[in-house]
This record gives sequence, structure tokens and C-alpha cells, in this order.
Amino acid sequence: MGFTLDPLQLLRMVDGRTLLLAAALTAGSFSPILLFGRRARTLCSGCSQLAFAEFSLGVLLFFEAIRDTIGDLIPVVVGNLLLCCSMLVLVRGMHRFTGRRQIGIWLYAVSALYLTAIAYFYWIDNDLRVRVMIIGTFLCIVLASAASPLLREAPEGCRFSYRFTAVFFLSGSLMALTRACVVGATKSMNSLFTGHPMENGFYLFDLIFVIGITLSFYLLTNERALASLREANKSLAQEIEETSKTTSLLQAEVEERKRLQDELNHLVNTDDLTGILNRRGLLSVLQQEVLRAARFKHPLSVLILDLDRFKRINDQYGHAVGDQALLACVSKCRRQLRAIDIVGRLGGEEFAFILPETDIAGAEIVGEKLRAGIANEEIVCGEIKFSTTASIGIAAWTKDDESGVDTIARADRALYRAKAAGRNCVRIAL
Ligand code: GH3
Ligand code: MG
Ligand code: MG
Repeated sequence: MGFTLDPLQLLRMVDGRTLLLAAALTAGSFSPILLFGRRARTLCSGCSQLAFAEFSLGVLLFFEAIRDTIGDLIPVVVGNLLLCCSMLVLVRGMHRFTGRRQIGIWLYAVSALYLTAIAYFYWIDNDLRVRVMIIGTFLCIVLASAASPLLREAPEGCRFSYRFTAVFFLSGSLMALTRACVVGATKSMNSLFTGHPMENGFYLFDLIFVIGITLSFYLLTNERALASLREANKSLAQEIEETSKTTSLLQAEVEERKRLQDELNHLVNTDDLTGILNRRGLLSVLQQEVLRAARFKHPLSVLILDLDRFKRINDQYGHAVGDQALLACVSKCRRQLRAIDIVGRLGGEEFAFILPETDIAGAEIVGEKLRAGIANEEIVCGEIKFSTTASIGIAAWTKDDESGVDTIARADRALYRAKAAGRNCVRIAL
């Protein structure tokens, strides 16, 4: 048995009142959902207007559906007032949603004209056909103006939902105009529910329209929420990028400062000519070693070495050769010492050696070794060869020394004694 789907047949089967009632109930139940949506979402200004518009639409559709029972007065008077208000509020809602302030004053004028015409064709010249044409024309204008801000203000990222909703409003507008034209083409009209398939088609569209505008509005708000999230994400990513740039710049700055600080410390504590510690660097290291020796009760000795008659070397061979001699003496001494021993230049041709873990007897052996090393090995500067000697004073740190400077002073006095004893010898502090 064959089966054919005839839309006209289907539209003949459905009942206009039932369709209107379904549209009324749908609009009535969507309005609290929209109102709740207003509270739940901060991004959908215009939600309360839409909820009000839907509620009014629901009430007036309900009045239309039960028109046969309650008579013409309430549907015509209250229904048209509600339609007028709901449409104005709907347009205002769309304006608010798109960020536009006011709706054009002309729309209020159109509404006033519409209500006056309805009143005229109800109380003075009662004509249902003309009233339906007026309502159709009014809806055509109002729905088109609800679509207008959506088409004009569609922002980047929300285009689809804005256009989709606008198309929905425009199709409502077109449908209302068609209805007005269709009714205008008929000769007379006594009832809204004749069961004509086209009439039922219009009621079916009413139902689809009510569902559609609610869903479109949800689509609008969702897409807007997504766009704003995307925007927030973008600015967050930018912020993170900038912070990390600033952090790496700061890090580089800190590293550069640390490098400069290290360089400065090195320069402040290092002797230019020989590259060993200068007086300042030596005294600070000595202070550390004194603290360590005192804490662990370990021996610590200090040795001061002064090259003998060095002035003569300068006078005889020149200052540059004197410098070479100083460098040669430093490296000669360094080679004879332990890695943990510390070498510094106190000034001129005078050097100090800090010998950790070394008592005075050990220091004397070291001193003698250094002295012999300098005395027995010639200094070679290119063509020039000469020998020199050194005098050495030694002192061991004792707990009576207030600081390392005291120990150095005692070693210095021992050095004077070595000089006094004819130079090229080692003397121990008394
Ligand atoms: P003494 O045996 O009594 O120590 O005699 P001296 O000539 O070594 O002592 P004095 O203090 O009279 O002279 C030290 C000389 O060391 C003076 C200076 O010409 C020389 N001198 C000091 N610093 C430097 C330096 O950096 N380079 C060179 N080439 N000579 C220096
Ligand atoms: Mg000297
Ligand atoms: Mg000297």
C-alpha cells in the first residue's frame, strides 16, 4: 500500500486553536527560563525584556486560542495592547543586547497608530479582516526593526548567532506581511479559525517562531560568552607573554649585575701586576682563616717576604725588568706552596703567605724553602739574567691576636729583624 505525505493534508488535519494554545504554553514556559538565564548569565542584557515579551505573547496567544469561549473584547483590547507592548519590549531588548541605547521614536508612533487603527476597526467599524491586516503590517515593521540592530552591530566572533537571530526575525516579519496580504486578498473574514490549511500554517509558524526566538537568544548569549572568553584568554596569553618577557629581562639584568659585582669584587681584591690578592683581599681571606683556625683549634701561620735591595734592580735594569722579577718571584713561590696556601701582595716588593693547618715549625721550613728558592735560581728577563734574595718574617696565629692584622704585624717585626740580621734569612716572631 503506497504512502504519500501531503503537507496541505497535514495542515488541514491540525487545529488552529490547539496550535495557538501550544504556542501560548511554550511562550509562557520559556519566559521564566529566560528570566532565570538573566540571573545566571551576566553577559545577556536584554534577557528580562525578552522574558517579558514572551510572557505577554503567551498570554495574548492564549486569549486568541480561547476566543470562542471568552468573546472578542478581551482578545481584541487586552490582546492587542499586550502585542504592542511585547513587540516594543522585544525590540528594546534586542537594542539593549547589541548595546544600542534607545529605539527610534518612530516606532512609538507606529505603535500608537496601530492601536488607534485597531480601536477604530473594533468599536467604530468592526472589521476582523482589516484588524488582521493591521496586525500583520505592524508585526512586519516591528520584527524587521528587531532584526536591524542584530544585522548592524554583529561583532567579530558572534556573527553567526547575530545573523541567525536576525534571519529569524526577518522571516517572522515576512510571514506577517504575507498573512496581511493573504487576508487582504480575501473578500470577508468572520472567524480566525476556519480550518483553512494556510491559516493553520500561519499558526504553526507562530509556534515555531516562539520556540525559535528563545533558542536564538540562547545561541546569541552563548556565542557572546564564548567570544568574551576567547578575548579574555587572548589578553591573558598576552599578559603571560609580557610577564615572561619582563621576567627574562629582569633575569638578564640580575645576571649582568651579578657579573659586574663579581668583576668589581675581583678588581677590588686583586693586584693588577701579579694577579694575586692585594692587601685588602689578603686581609679579608686572612680574617676568614683566623676564624676557622680559632673555631677548630687548628694551627695557622703567616709569612711575610720582602725582596732585598729591590730598588737596585729597578735602578740597574729598569722598572719593566723589576716588574718581570716580581712576577717571576710570585710564580716561583707559588710552585713551592700547597694549593690551600694563600699568596698576596702587601705592596711594592713585599708579599704575604697565609699557611692554613701549619704551625710555626712547619712555617719555618716553608720560609726557608722560599728563601732558598729565590736565592738559588736566577731570574731571566730576555737577555738579562740576575739573582736576588729575600728576607722573611714568620708569625703563627695565637689566640692572643685580636685579628689577623696582629699576626701580620708580628710577622712584619720578624721581617725587620731578618733585614737587620743582614737580609737573605728567615726570622720567627718572638
Ligand atoms: P730592602 O732590602 O731594605 O727591602 O731594600 P729595597 O730597595 O727592596 O726597599 P725599598 O723599600 O727601599 O724599595 C723598594 C723598591 O721596590 C722601591 C721601588 O723601586 C720598588 N718597587 C715597588 N713596587 C714596585 C713595582 O710594582 N714594580 C717595580 N718594578 N718596582 C717596585
Ligand atoms: Mg725590599
Ligand atoms: Mg719593602
